[in-house]
This record gives sequence, C-alpha cells and structure tokens, in this order.
Amino acid sequence: MNDASYTERDLAVIWHPYTQMQTALPPVAMVSGKDALLYDDTGQAYIDAVSSWWVSIHGHGNAYIAEKIAAQAGILEHCIFAGFTHPPAVILAERLLGVLPDNQRKIFYSDNGSTAVEVALKMSIQYWHNQGIRKNKFIAFKHAYHGDTFGAMSVSGRSIFTRVFDDYLFDVVFLDLPTPENITVLCEQIAGLSAEACAFIFEPLVLGSGGMLMYTPEMLGMLMQVCRQHDILTIADEVMTGFGRTGKNFALEYCSGKPDIICLSKGLSGGTLAFGVTTCTQDIYDVFLSDDKLKTLFHGHSFTANPVACAAALASLDLFTASGCQDNIRRITEAHQRFSERLKGHRKIKNLRQQGTIIAFEIVTPEADAYTNSMRDRLYKFFLDRKIILRPLGNTLYIMPPYTITDAQLETVYSAIMELIAQS
Ligand SMILES: *Cc1c(COP(=O)(O)O)cnc(C)c1O
Repeated sequence: MNDASYTERDLAVIWHPYTQMQTALPPVAMVSGKDALLYDDTGQAYIDAVSSWWVSIHGHGNAYIAEKIAAQAGILEHCIFAGFTHPPAVILAERLLGVLPDNQRKIFYSDNGSTAVEVALKMSIQYWHNQGIRKNKFIAFKHAYHGDTFGAMSVSGRSIFTRVFDDYLFDVVFLDLPTPENITVLCEQIAGLSAEACAFIFEPLVLGSGGMLMYTPEMLGMLMQVCRQHDILTIADEVMTGFGRTGKNFALEYCSGKPDIICLSKGLSGGTLAFGVTTCTQDIYDVFLSDDKLKTLFHGHSFTANPVACAAALASLDLFTASGCQDNIRRITEAHQRFSERLKGHRKIKNLRQQGTIIAFEIVTPEADAYTNSMRDRLYKFFLDRKIILRPLGNTLYIMPPYTITDAQLETVYSAIMELIAQS
C-alpha cells in the first residue's frame, strides 16, 4: 500500500505537457468518467467543458466504444502495417472515405494530429519533387496551430510556444486571416508564390489553439481556388474541426472547394486512443507510383493503423453518424446561440463568436498583453473552483463540450461564466 495521494506521487515522477511545473496548481487526479463528467479520487465530479483537449466528442466512459476496443484487443491487438493489412484498417478507410469530401481517395494512418500533419507536409513536398519540380515553401495562417513536432511547429504561427525553437523551423509564408477587406491582397500574395509554394495548410473556419479565431467559408473558398489556379496544393487540417465540432461533419462542408489533403485526429477515435489519419486525392497518390524506389513515401510509425485504434474509430463513427449524436450537436449549437443572446453587449466581453458547438469570446482586460498570463490562470482557477474544466487561451474563454453534455450541465457552465463577468 502507498498512502500518498496520486497527486503527490505524480509530482514525484511526472512532467506534464504545457505546464510550468514550478508554479502550476497540483494536478487533479481523475479516476473515472461518464459522459461530460470526470470524477476525482475523492469522488468529486467535474464538468469537462473542453472535451479533454477537444478529443472526447462522445464524452467519457462510453460503453459501446469500450466494448469494441476490448473485443478487438482480444482478436488482434496489433500487426505490422507494411506488407500486411487487417479488417479494421480496411473497413475504417472505406467508411472514412464515405463521409469525407468525394475527391479524397486514399487513407494514410498515423498516431496523432501532429503526425497526420507531418505526413501531409511530406506528401506535399514530395508530390512536386517526384515530378521534378522544386518548391520549398509552405503557406499558412499567422495564428495557425498544427502541432508540436518540428514540421507541424514550422507551419504554426510563431508564438511564445515556438520562440525557443524558431531558429530550427523552416521558412513559411504567413497570411493574415481573410476578411472581405484584405481578401484581394491575400489572393494576389498567394498567386505570387506559385513557383515556390508547394502547399497551403489551414484549419478550416476555426483556428483552435491560436485563440478560436473564426473566418468564413466564402473567404476560405476563395483562397483555395487561387491555390488551385496557381498549382499550390491545399491541406485542410480538420484535426480539431472534424467530426461535428463546427455543426457539420467537417468544417469543409460549409465551403465550396475541396482540398487535396485532409488531416484528422482528436475526435477520430472518439477521444479514446491516440490516432491520426491523412487522406489525399487520387492525383497525389498516383504521383508516388513508380518503378523508381526513390518516389516512395518513406514514412511510417511503429503503430501505424493499430487495429484497436481502428476499432475505436469505427465505434466512434457508428455513434457519430447515429441520429442521437447529430441531434446533440444541434442542441448544443442552439443552446450556445441562446447563451450568446445573454452575453451580447456585456461590457466585460468582446469578439463574441460561435461556430457550431464552439463558442468563444475575450474577457475585456484593462492591462496590456503582459498581464494575460495571470489573467488566464485566474480564469482557469475560477472555473476549477466551481468544478468546471475550462482552459482559457490567454483572455479568450471558449466552451467546446462533449456532445453528451446535458442541458443542465451546459447551464452550470453558462451560469459560472455569467457569475465571472458579473464580478470581474
Ligand atoms: C491539436 C491539433 C493538432 C495536433 O494534434 P496532436 O494530436 O496534439 O499532436 C494539429 N492540428 C490542429 C488543428 C489541432 O487542433
């Protein structure tokens, strides 16, 4: 027996992600979960209003997914994926292609959002290389976030999170978010990069980690069209926006154009297992077909297409495509809309915005940017004290709940926010 709490034992041996270990609050030890609730080691329930870093789309402790995972683990837990295949990988690929934009024809499996992006970047570079064309630049948005590995960091906006590594990141042309005012300039900028840019990577409609910044499908459609006209591939990073987050299955469905490459992760496995997917068109795939070995996409991970992860993704897709889940997405979208009415015009908030199940706004703060870190910590603690998990991005507050969150739980979150802005 060990009498120390898990929190104490954790602090002795574990280094947490995105955490200044000297000043952070001690980690709360969670021992179980059900739907939108997580329970700590004293039995206290917390509302997970951020879907555990945006992954738990169906909430926690889903019996159906758990059952499918257990069954697959007992049949075939893993199998090398070069030279071999297995039913869950094949069936999942078929089903994903069935729900994705119809120009997508091949599925490349990997382990998480960052690896899905790395694969997309390598595919893009080599797509041109295999045709004897040298293009060495990517285009991305200034506040983009595409992951924490070096390629994914390179195409992410430069920020305090990348600063230490900036010298090691490759060159990227960063664009402002499109608006009706600047769209013409952006299109000209892209057109001018035709000879050097191999691809434009973007988070469709919502830039997540960059602060839940939103832009319209019309603007995205125009940018994608210029890329197509000027031989620049388009990569839609739907790692966060995929699987219903924005109100439709994929954010791209709001948009007229279709990208060449799509990245998926997070909600892909229903938030149960680390998993990633990169999909592409027939045209991209065909450019890698050759008698010349050097035209091969030399990329893979030990756990590529892990059968248990595939089974989890298949189970999650079953739930996601059922009417109950689609009803929940609509219900949350409408609840957020009603909450917007309560927030509108409040002097303590600004830039109120919503896209489907995501609602975000900034807390007005008199102090300059330098203060936002302590502001962020204060907000985080305010909600944690009320047993609500919200992780503000600076002074940006957002809600991104699991689709199984109840109306009563949503109201608890909304009320806490109203309490915050009434007192702050
Ligand atoms: C989270 C995220 C990633 C990175 O995914 P990880 O699984 O954390 O590596 C990439 N792109 C977007 C848009 C994300 O939100």
